[in-house]
Amino acid sequence: MANLKSIRVRFAPSPTGYLHVGGLRTALYNYLFARKHKGVFVLRIEDTDRTRYVEGAVENLIETLHWAGLEYDEGPVKGGSYAPYIQSQRLEIYKRHVDMLLEKRKAYRCFCTPERLEEMRKQQEKIGASSKYDRRCLKLIQSEIQANLSKGVPFVVRMKIPDVPTIQFNDIIRGKVEFASEMLDDQVLLKSDGYPTYHLANVVDDHLMDISHVIRGEEWLSSTPKHVLLYQHFGWQLPVFAHLPLLLNPDRSKLSKRQGDVAVEDYRAKGYLPEALINFVAFLGWNPGTEQEFFYFDELINQFLLEHVNKAGAIFNIEKLNWMNFEHLRKKSDEDVLQLLRSELAQSRYKHVHFDDDYLQRVITAMRDRVSFINDFIEKSPYFFEAPVEYDKEVVKKRWKKDAPNHLKKLVEEFLQLQNPRKEDYETALHRTAESLKISNGQLIHAARLAVSGVGAGPGLYDILYILGKEESVQRINTAIEKIKSV
Ligand code: GLU
Repeated sequence: MANLKSIRVRFAPSPTGYLHVGGLRTALYNYLFARKHKGVFVLRIEDTDRTRYVEGAVENLIETLHWAGLEYDEGPVKGGSYAPYIQSQRLEIYKRHVDMLLEKRKAYRCFCTPERLEEMRKQQEKIGASSKYDRRCLKLIQSEIQANLSKGVPFVVRMKIPDVPTIQFNDIIRGKVEFASEMLDDQVLLKSDGYPTYHLANVVDDHLMDISHVIRGEEWLSSTPKHVLLYQHFGWQLPVFAHLPLLLNPDRSKLSKRQGDVAVEDYRAKGYLPEALINFVAFLGWNPGTEQEFFYFDELINQFLLEHVNKAGAIFNIEKLNWMNFEHLRKKSDEDVLQLLRSELAQSRYKHVHFDDDYLQRVITAMRDRVSFINDFIEKSPYFFEAPVEYDKEVVKKRWKKDAPNHLKKLVEEFLQLQNPRKEDYETALHRTAESLKISNGQLIHAARLAVSGVGAGPGLYDILYILGKEESVQRINTAIEKIKSV
């Protein structure tokens, strides 16, 4: 047994196929708490609801946590001294514990058919009573139970809610919490298929895995009195509870798919940086008590306090996430951005094109302040990765005057004179050309920009020319002269 003071926390998702941002927040708070207190962060898979089983969900979950930087210490694949960490592999353990409760008469077998339960529910509804098992099977005598068992009548095991007025417990975030016992149903602990329900498996595992703190979402708060009773029935010490606030849409409704993405995988696919998503999610219910909003992981570990988590629902504000992404990207070194751009390119339509590090580095310097996402490098300035295939019609209309082809021909002549031009050399050459043509620099700049990039905005023209190089720039201008019909 671990020493009682050691901190052990767990993230215990059901493998539903994706990681909800609320789940990421729960995992993060558990992780921060464990790291801060030099404790252990356990990943446990709660897959006892076989109707919700999704192929590949566990692998996906582990991969997504890894992407987010939340490495667990014990869990599936990695193992640990409390293995197995997948509940469907622990059925024997739950069975044994149910037997203990049956023996102590803290639980009982219920042979009621689904039809009878449905009928009962309808009756209760009719008279406006809350839906609760009527305890018919609690009254069965031993011989009736035996008879049913020998006939093989299917049964579930229910816990017996004791006749006490209230059930109380402490929650770090909410203080003293109290539930009236009459609100509680005789909860099913073991289903007729031999699988435990969430409640039983969760409590048994938290105890056997020496979990010191149960940190989870508010939606589980109403289950906690049943869990508290189970701890008491088994004669076990309670863990410390902390129920995290709900996540809300900006209109204060419960965070839902209808108002935006809820899967971490969606944010990942959209190109959000894990650091930014983590920074953002950390603030969904917690704040450091100062003005600081930009946090690196290490700073979160240092400053995170469970006591500073709020009770009130936390609003999910996508603008704030976008701002954090922009900030985290902005603060990255050029080398880091280069790596990210390389992996983005490897998944893009340019995956077969080779670009030198030097080249990409120059693109990064020119575009850094204009992007919020790595993918923006490609989407906002595709002309750095391929010659324009078409030209923005609006810009052609406005900027491509009748004599643009002649002007640009002259510009090309000037450019061809340059030896290893730097940015400034393009500028001087363009000024010289404009002067000899007696037109404004601007007129020539607009036409040249359209010719080399296909669009009307972006970084400075001389930056673009310098990045593309003389040969490519000249070639693009010549192509544009051929292709753009003046209007
Ligand atoms: N399996 C539950 C879930 O899917 C775990 C709740 C808890 O942490 O106790 O979130």
